Amino acid sequence: MKLYEQTAAQLSRLLQKKEVSSVEVVQSFLDRIEMVEPYVKSFITHTPAMALDMASSADSRRLNGEEMNPLAGVPIAVKDNISTAGLRTTCASRVLENYIPPYDATVIRALREAGMPLLGKTNMDEFAMGSSTENSAFYPTRNPWDLGRVPGGSSGGSAVAVSTGMAPLALGSDTGGSIRQPAALCGLTGLRPTYGRVSRYGLIAFASSLDQIGPLALTAEDSALLMNVIAGHDPLDSTSLPEAGPDYASGFDGNVKRLRIGVIRENVSDHFDPEVTSAVLKAIALLKEHGAIIDEVSLPLTDYGLSAYYLIAPSEASSNLGRYDGVRYGFNAGGDNIEEMFSRTRGRGFGPEVKRRIMIGTYALSAGYYDAYYLQAMKVRTLIRRDYESAFRRFDILIGATTPAPAFKIGEKTSEPLQMYLSDICNITDSLAGLPSLSVPCGINTDGLPLGMQLTASPLNDSLLLKVAGFLEQKRDPLPLRPVVKLPEGGVI
Ligand code: GLN
Repeated sequence: MKLYEQTAAQLSRLLQKKEVSSVEVVQSFLDRIEMVEPYVKSFITHTPAMALDMASSADSRRLNGEEMNPLAGVPIAVKDNISTAGLRTTCASRVLENYIPPYDATVIRALREAGMPLLGKTNMDEFAMGSSTENSAFYPTRNPWDLGRVPGGSSGGSAVAVSTGMAPLALGSDTGGSIRQPAALCGLTGLRPTYGRVSRYGLIAFASSLDQIGPLALTAEDSALLMNVIAGHDPLDSTSLPEAGPDYASGFDGNVKRLRIGVIRENVSDHFDPEVTSAVLKAIALLKEHGAIIDEVSLPLTDYGLSAYYLIAPSEASSNLGRYDGVRYGFNAGGDNIEEMFSRTRGRGFGPEVKRRIMIGTYALSAGYYDAYYLQAMKVRTLIRRDYESAFRRFDILIGATTPAPAFKIGEKTSEPLQMYLSDICNITDSLAGLPSLSVPCGINTDGLPLGMQLTASPLNDSLLLKVAGFLEQKRDPLPLRPVVKLPEGGVI
């Protein structure tokens, strides 16, 4: 039995029965990383020694009879915008290339307490701005289902680490789709939790009113186990919700009878790739066959959602990224006076997409334009929220495609920012409304690329999404959990 091929739940059972040790589990993933990583480039920082150390301490805690979280000893990879004390956290940016945080994010503290060894920090679009991981200042990550294609973004490194068996679980962050879109493009389950459900303390801010940390996993059960570790109230995050949260891993009863499902007309569209649409329709038919009540719903503001998001997120980013001036954090390009130092540091430290967002955001917030852009976008945000409120009076969950098309080719959209932005069209409105939203695999196209479907619930109903995703996993025609990676020189791994 190859340990790196097991799901997190399977590893958890083996560890709890003491059939394997965490050190053995971690070693298996480290060996897999050595073999696969050169072809896909998922990680920015590897932490093998730390992982083995944490594994051996999880093993001794368990041997001493300590009551442990079910995921104790199961390792994890973490997106490189989540602060790790004493361990470089770059946001895939030159400006933070050598930044070492003095404290742990709350989610990292939770992983440590649960006894989950950290395998490394994963590649991403710089400051989480992008949909392909090509905006990393270091190198792009490749999609293991086809090495010529992107894995999605911005949590592409986390998605690929799980998809290739380099980590059984990963954390990503989702501002406007960055967990769900790479999950869809890499054949994973990815959950953007309800805004405020998982602490943002220590998550390096992109757009604070939208950012959420969440799991990327092979199955719904694995995602639920990880939610049990990371979700909950945190007094260090002022937007954290007060409720403790349910047990996400219970309620996987395979029952969708009388569940009211709204099919979002705008997200199951004739304009989308036909194989995406037909895979989503097939999953909907399966739900109907098992007693779900299906009807259509329209969210007409979806198109405006994209425009509103690309004003609100850059506006918040322009303010959040003001702190990278070379004085307090990381990179400093020097200069004869303070103005020159600021402008050289920011000029050389940020990549083109980050600069584009800072400029758009600064413009949208400036006197005279604020009312026309930022304020209008905030009004659209309110209307979108109301649209959802009325949809959730009729439905328990809403369904559509996660992405209009499967993974695109590396380089295909880099020269056209608008085309890149459009790849998140299905993910943005949920983010603006603060809703929990999940992508679950629903098929493989004729080129062998994974396809994803998105489920959205009303606030705090994250566990319902996991339950329905679990149902689909059990009842649909089986899909491969992982790709066979075809190497450029021939052969497979
Ligand atoms: N692709 C979107 C953007 O570029 C969303 C990114 C994210 O969710 N972090 O802003």
